[in-house]
Amino acid sequence: MVRESGDRRPVLTVFGSANMDLVATVPTAPALGETVTGTAFRTVPGGKGANQAVAAARAGGVTHMIGAVGDDEFGAEMRAALDASGVGTGGLRTAEGASGIAHITVDGKGANSIIVVPGANATVTGLAPEDERRIADSDALLLQLETPMEGVIAAARAARAHGTRTVLTPAPTQPLPPELLDAVDLLVPNEHEAADLTGERDPHAAARALLALVPEVVITLGARGSLYAARGAEPVTVPAYEVEAVDTTAAGDTFVGALCTAYGEGVAMPEALAWASAASALAVRRPGASSSMPTRTEITAFRQRTTTQRTTTQRTSAP
Ligand code: ADP
Repeated sequence: MVRESGDRRPVLTVFGSANMDLVATVPTAPALGETVTGTAFRTVPGGKGANQAVAAARAGGVTHMIGAVGDDEFGAEMRAALDASGVGTGGLRTAEGASGIAHITVDGKGANSIIVVPGANATVTGLAPEDERRIADSDALLLQLETPMEGVIAAARAARAHGTRTVLTPAPTQPLPPELLDAVDLLVPNEHEAADLTGERDPHAAARALLALVPEVVITLGARGSLYAARGAEPVTVPAYEVEAVDTTAAGDTFVGALCTAYGEGVAMPEALAWASAASALAVRRPGASSSMPTRTEITAFRQRTTTQRTTTQRTSAP
């Protein structure tokens, strides 16, 4: 069972990116040199690091973010959005210049093209002394690859040195240096990233290949759920919840944030994975990335409702 109120809350530190997503909706994406008239525009705080931090905080983790925003309006907005979600921003530096942005065009068929300009994220190349303390005091460190690799390696090494569990989302996909892999406890790619990393399309084969690199792997499979594999144990498949998906942006980030919260509370992996599936199912039912992430109360209520439904169905269908 995931914690009842009153138990100790897990402490999580997220080291990674914060981007402002600039989303333009167009009937058809412009060709080179062409101008088209769009139908809508919105700015939404995003970036894999900030998304995982918001997901973890909403799921009930005491969450800190280490990263950087620029000294522009987007930076102030992103910091305020993290503060409002209960994420500790003491480790979020304000760098001179522009914040990171993702310029996203979504066409009438829902297909998108994206330009990412890292801005302040490019300055996240190492740790300040207080960052090391934050990592040392955490149950888990959550990493992704939208900030420079040297900083990610420094954070992972600090976690390893202090016995903090390290969870890496290997996105965007790139070669993973051995210095990083040596300090990773759990790798959480989606099925495309797992295939890119291993050359194996079959998730079970990809998981086996990844276990040669890290002790534990979760491959997320979209609406098909997730696959958990650990060295020396039988792999476990966790189904996704059947929901009507409206927007799957940041499903994986919601999943990782919720998973680390549950696991940090001492919940066994299969139950923590089921809880993370519930969190991401709730997120895909609503539009938006960080704004769609569910709170702990919502996740627990959804789990109880669906568990009761399942038990009732099993009872009714039993001979
Ligand atoms: P990413 O967002 O990184 O590509 P996935 O698409 O694999 O990651 O989604 C992560 C998790 O979110 C899945 O393991 C699943 O639990 C949940 N999820 C994603 N899409 C759906 C969906 N259409 N219906 C229900 N759950 C979903």
